[in-house]
Amino acid sequence: MAKKTVFKEGKWRCTHIDLSGEGACNHENPGPALLCEKCNKHRPKNVQFYLPKGAKVVHDQASILDAKSGANWRCMHCNYDNKASSDICVHCDKVRDTEYEKWINLGGELSTKKYAKGQTPTGYQPKTATSFQQKSKIGKYLKIGGIVLAAVLIIWFIYAQFFKTEALKVEVAGFTWEREVVIEEKQTVTEQGWDIPSGGRQKSRVKKQHGTKEVYDHSEWEEEPIYEDVQVGTQQVECGTIDKGNGYFETQYCDEPIYESQQTGTREVERKVYRTEPVYDYWYTYEIDRWNEVRSPESSGTTKNVSWPEYNLSYNERVGDESESYTVHLKPIVESKFSQLEYDLGFSEWNKMNLGDVYIARVRKSGTVVSLNKPD
Ligand SMILES: [Zn+2]
Ligand SMILES: [Zn+2]
Repeated sequence: MAKKTVFKEGKWRCTHIDLSGEGACNHENPGPALLCEKCNKHRPKNVQFYLPKGAKVVHDQASILDAKSGANWRCMHCNYDNKASSDICVHCDKVRDTEYEKWINLGGELSTKKYAKGQTPTGYQPKTATSFQQKSKIGKYLKIGGIVLAAVLIIWFIYAQFFKTEALKVEVAGFTWEREVVIEEKQTVTEQGWDIPSGGRQKSRVKKQHGTKEVYDHSEWEEEPIYEDVQVGTQQVECGTIDKGNGYFETQYCDEPIYESQQTGTREVERKVYRTEPVYDYWYTYEIDRWNEVRSPESSGTTKNVSWPEYNLSYNERVGDESESYTVHLKPIVESKFSQLEYDLGFSEWNKMNLGDVYIARVRKSGTVVSLNKPD
């Protein structure tokens, strides 16, 4: 993979505070500048170089040599940044002492840094940007709190409306009951189908189409193209950027193969051809006895004198389902918005109750009684 590089001029932002009260200088300077173009102060310590979008590519030999010469160094006597090409501080004339520099600058000084594609900083990022984040976090918590509160209110409303009950002292004021018997008659009916159910008596049958099936008929051979990815060339893509530590950035370009899907041949492919054929089956007509509901006598009353309805069965009739229901009518004996309530219950419980018996009823807002208990 061939590598090609290009040098670009980065930028740095001046963070010196102007004591006259104007705030930070904030001037954006060309990367290689050692002094701020606006306030003339030294490049700040631990400066972060960045590469703005559309940064200019340097072409002149002097700048390229400057870019390649290495990271700037900081004079430990006067704090002035110097080019790597000189060992004597241009500000105070003292000689560079690399051993001592290593000892006092345990990291943090200007040096080269490698950035992966797309990771290069493109602007100045101040380190204290948390108050806004904190504010938006508080807003988020308030929003979540509001949603939780709304959900609690909705649940409480549904509970109060449909599930909450109040206790009410009531007395038994009346009884009603209903009983019903379903009478079924055996009837002979004629039905049709692909099968005769048990008990059915066949009357006739005919052959009829029941469905279709797919049957293999023949094969056809077809030519199908074969495609493969073929390298047709190379392209140069950006594969990383190095901050040279002196205001310049080195962008590396790598060769990447370009592939294209191309037809490289053909092959014979079998395609099976099927035909659709009908499937025949017997369609039966048969007679069968079915029990059908013909009537349902009922009885009811308003006393505890219960009885089943009277009926007579013919020779071809039988008793089907039986059903019964028992209701006690209740009158509140304390102040209430309900004048009359009812409650359905099983026969043995219902039958044990007497007019005037006192109970505690649990009643929903709608007037539905959900339970009935003897008072303690
Ligand atoms: Zn400045
Ligand atoms: Zn110096």
